[in-house]
Amino acid sequence: MNYSGFEAYEKSINKIGGSSAVFLAKVGDEDFIIAQGIADFKGEKLGDGKIKAPLTHENAEVLRKLLPFTAPSRVLTKDRSFGLGDRLGIATPGHIKLFEHYDAYPVFAQQSIRELNLTNRTYEDVLDAVTFAVFREGFKKGWGADGDHLKTVKDVEYALSLGFSMITLDCSDHIKNDVTDSNAPALPKNYGDKYLGKKFDIGEGVVLDFTEGELKKIVAIYGEAIGFAVDMYNRFLKDGKYAADFEISIDETVSTTTPLQHYFVARELIDAGVVFATMAPRFCGEFQKGIDYIGDLKQFEKEIKIHAVIARHFKYKLSIHSGSDKFSVFPSIGKETRGIFHVKTAGTNWLEAMRVVAAVDPALYREVHKYALSAFDEAQKYYHVTTDLSKIPNVDTLKDAELPNLFNQNDARQLIHITYGLILSKKNSDGSFAFKDKLYKLWKKNEQVYADALIKHIGKHLDLLGVKKG
Ligand code: ZN
Repeated sequence: MNYSGFEAYEKSINKIGGSSAVFLAKVGDEDFIIAQGIADFKGEKLGDGKIKAPLTHENAEVLRKLLPFTAPSRVLTKDRSFGLGDRLGIATPGHIKLFEHYDAYPVFAQQSIRELNLTNRTYEDVLDAVTFAVFREGFKKGWGADGDHLKTVKDVEYALSLGFSMITLDCSDHIKNDVTDSNAPALPKNYGDKYLGKKFDIGEGVVLDFTEGELKKIVAIYGEAIGFAVDMYNRFLKDGKYAADFEISIDETVSTTTPLQHYFVARELIDAGVVFATMAPRFCGEFQKGIDYIGDLKQFEKEIKIHAVIARHFKYKLSIHSGSDKFSVFPSIGKETRGIFHVKTAGTNWLEAMRVVAAVDPALYREVHKYALSAFDEAQKYYHVTTDLSKIPNVDTLKDAELPNLFNQNDARQLIHITYGLILSKKNSDGSFAFKDKLYKLWKKNEQVYADALIKHIGKHLDLLGVKKG
């Protein structure tokens, strides 16, 4: 195979059989798939059996069939997995360089429907961006795709139909937050027979028992959510039609998941035949977006210990959501789970991209920052944050070189974190994007700067979680 005449990405060259090959090449300013002797790609025929195929969804599908490492796989069942919500579709090259060297499996594609809406993307885009990056870099270790925080039949079906390898079922709409001692309905007899007057020894010195009052409330809070999860499992995953793992998310609720609640939900799901790889309880304290843990560290350590014992007992992994920048709790998560966990990050990858903007184009950064300040009230409707805008220094009084330091300050981090959708969709009066196109152009030009930032920043997450290199 002659690659001459093409600026091929070396790691993307895949020979297939004796005379066929496929690789990624730069043609002008754009990347194309160049296929020799493979007719399935749609593109321009170059003669001598070559096709120059653009990076379309259709061609990504062909690539995923041809080279299975470019398709997602079930990495959630590995001991250590790590979710990387890349809202921009540009972070995977940096993530790849990191995960090549750590003993953990990446979930490169991970977006919720809300994130898709705020960034005007589709699951096709999300998946294809990773497929092309993995192809370009020759990353063959395996990676996952997470239909994150899905709540409806339609959305789960959408993610699975594209080959997503995990579904995070968000049960929050079915969790009753207003249950009290006085308004909880009477305890159904079958639950009383099953749980009352018994001690549940789950090993490692942890014994759980329920009082009638507690059990009555737990059934009232979680009964419907459990039913929902059982239905969704039976509908989509029971028959094994899709090669996907199931994560049960009960974290998006106002109150902390107690160990008894966690045990009850897991036990009921398992007794109903639901197979799930991970469960995300809501931990004590606050996991606010893009900043470190807020709360009582001792209490967190005490509680995660019991949550980890429950997960080990039932043989699934704990999943830690909103894991961006939770540096102070990573060591205890790593230790108490014995290095068996799933941790999700998202916003921090976007923040690192914006740190790059602050470093290489101060004028553009100041513009975006000021817009974010004006849009903060609107964005705050969707997030629980305790941002104090008055603590953020005025960008006009900061020297250019000081701008990247804003990303070491919690209030500035949260300002940029929660306004991402508004920043990316802001339009000028003529209908053109105010920032989006300029930002993408900047990121494309500074790809290596962004990759280095991610390696350093996400690397710190992995190091503190105790993930070994190798
Ligand atoms: Zn969550």
